[in-house]
Amino acid sequence: MAQSSQTIAQALQWASEQLHSTSESAKVDAEALLLHCINKNRSFLYTWPDKTLSSAQQADFEAMVATRQAGRPVAHIIGEREFWSLPFLVNDTTLIPRPDTEILVESALNLPLADDANVLDLGTGTGAIALSLAYERPSWQVTAIDKVPEAVALAKANRDNLKLGQVEILQSDWFSEVTDKRFDLIVSNPPYIDEADNHLSQGDVRFEPHSALTAKDQGYADLFHIAQTAKSYLTSGGYLLLEHGYQQAIKVREKLIELGYQDVATIRDFGSNDRCTLGRLC
Ligand code: GLN
Repeated sequence: MAQSSQTIAQALQWASEQLHSTSESAKVDAEALLLHCINKNRSFLYTWPDKTLSSAQQADFEAMVATRQAGRPVAHIIGEREFWSLPFLVNDTTLIPRPDTEILVESALNLPLADDANVLDLGTGTGAIALSLAYERPSWQVTAIDKVPEAVALAKANRDNLKLGQVEILQSDWFSEVTDKRFDLIVSNPPYIDEADNHLSQGDVRFEPHSALTAKDQGYADLFHIAQTAKSYLTSGGYLLLEHGYQQAIKVREKLIELGYQDVATIRDFGSNDRCTLGRLC
C-alpha cells in the first residue's frame, strides 16, 4: 500500500516501481492511470509535480495500479485508447486498437479514390479503422461491420462520440449482411493469429477475446475468406487492403495473386514489419 497524500511525482515514481516487474511499459502505464484518476492532460503531470492527490484520487490510483499489476490492459482500466490521434472507447468485447494498424489507415488514405468512394471495414471492433477513415474523408461512404453485437454497440458509441454519424455500422458475419453494394475499397484487420501461438498466454492479449485475435489454418482462414469473397463486392478497379501478421505477407500476396488481384504489394508498419497487403481487382 502506498503512503497517503502522495504528490504527483511521488505517485508516478511509486506506481512505476510497482509495475516494473509485470509491465514493459511501467512508466507510461503509471502516467496514463494517474491522468485518468485526476482527469487532466499529460502536461499537468510535469507542470504540477508537487501537487498532492486527494485521498479519493489516491485510493482510485492504488486500485488501478493493483489491477494493472494483475495484468489487465491499461486501455481496459481507463476504458479508452487513442488511435489516429482520436479517442476510442474500448472494452473487453473486442480488440484494443494497435498503433501498427495506423499504417493501414495511412495506406488507405494514400489510394487514388474518388471523393464519394464506397468503403467497407470488415471486423471493425471499436470502429478504429472505419471512423479514422471517415474522420479524414468525410465525403467517403463508409460502412463498418462486426459479427459481435457488443462490438457493434461499441463502434456505434465511438461513432457518436466522434460525431461521424455518416458511417453505417452493421452486425454481420463478414459479408453475410452486406447486400447489393459494391465497394471501391475493402479494408480489414481480421483475426490472424495462429490458435496455437504462445503469445496468446502473455501480456495484454490474455484479456482480449480470441474471436478478435485468432483464426484457423495458422491464422490465415479469415484473411483468405475475405480475399476470396471480397471479389464479389469490389468495383472494377477496387482495392482490398488487409492487415496481417508480420510473417504472413508472402502467403497473403500469393493468395491475392492466385485469386486474380493485381498490383499486389505489402506495406511495412512503423516498426518495419510487414503489416498490410494491398491488391486491386481489375
Ligand atoms: N496485431 C495484433 C497482435 O499481434 C493482432 C491483431 C489481429 O489479430 N487482428 O496482437
